[in-house]
Amino acid sequence: MKTELIHEAAKVIWNAKHLTAFTGAGISVESGIPPFRGEDGIWSRYDPGVLDISRYRSYPDETWPVVNEIFYQFFAKAQPNKAHYFLAWLQQEGILKALITQNIDNLHQDAGSTDVIEYHGNSQYLVCTYCGERRKVEEPLVTDEVPRCSNEGALMKPDFIFFGEPIPQEAAMRSMAEAEKTDVMLLIGTTGEVMPASMIPKVAKRGEATIVEINTAETIFTQTITDLFLQGKAAAVCDLVQQEITRLK
Ligand SMILES: [Zn+2]
Repeated sequence: MKTELIHEAAKVIWNAKHLTAFTGAGISVESGIPPFRGEDGIWSRYDPGVLDISRYRSYPDETWPVVNEIFYQFFAKAQPNKAHYFLAWLQQEGILKALITQNIDNLHQDAGSTDVIEYHGNSQYLVCTYCGERRKVEEPLVTDEVPRCSNEGALMKPDFIFFGEPIPQEAAMRSMAEAEKTDVMLLIGTTGEVMPASMIPKVAKRGEATIVEINTAETIFTQTITDLFLQGKAAAVCDLVQQEITRLK
């Protein structure tokens, strides 16, 4: 990577008035969480139908053990990486004003970020499909027994969106508001294939925000809305940018 590009990105980020970040699966790959899509993705090994909301409601005895295996056995081992810590640091420095993530893995919070806008929800909570009671998942959750609510024994589900469910309203509204306000948006590990999340950077661009993109390969954003494209793995690129910002400070 050219040092001038890192320098330019560091300058843009440091001078931002209202920096926002928008992250996707690619930021967590180096933490051991494979993406859902693609050749080695989770859906190449598991049937995505387990996350179909009507199937989950109708056949929880069949679907819960698979959901448990993917999200609570396998994901539980993941730790935040340098890219997650970089964003937490930017927030502590007062530069980063909003962090919007499509990920449900809680790694931003594990790295120290607060007030994260979770566009697709969070796997660390279960929510009752009947009364809405929400409780933190006790770790490690090793049981294949379908989780039930303590109020009336109704079926609980992970508090992230299943196929067939809408985006959580508050997250959707806050994301759009931030996208309209931002002057610099940092995209990390998101390819823009998932709708309607992929609208967020486009709204930012329409508002004349500068778009800084960190991805391992070109995406649909790269040629259309990105101003600075930093190609590489999230952790390594973020580390370089953080070092450069520290020099600029
Ligand atoms: Zn309930």
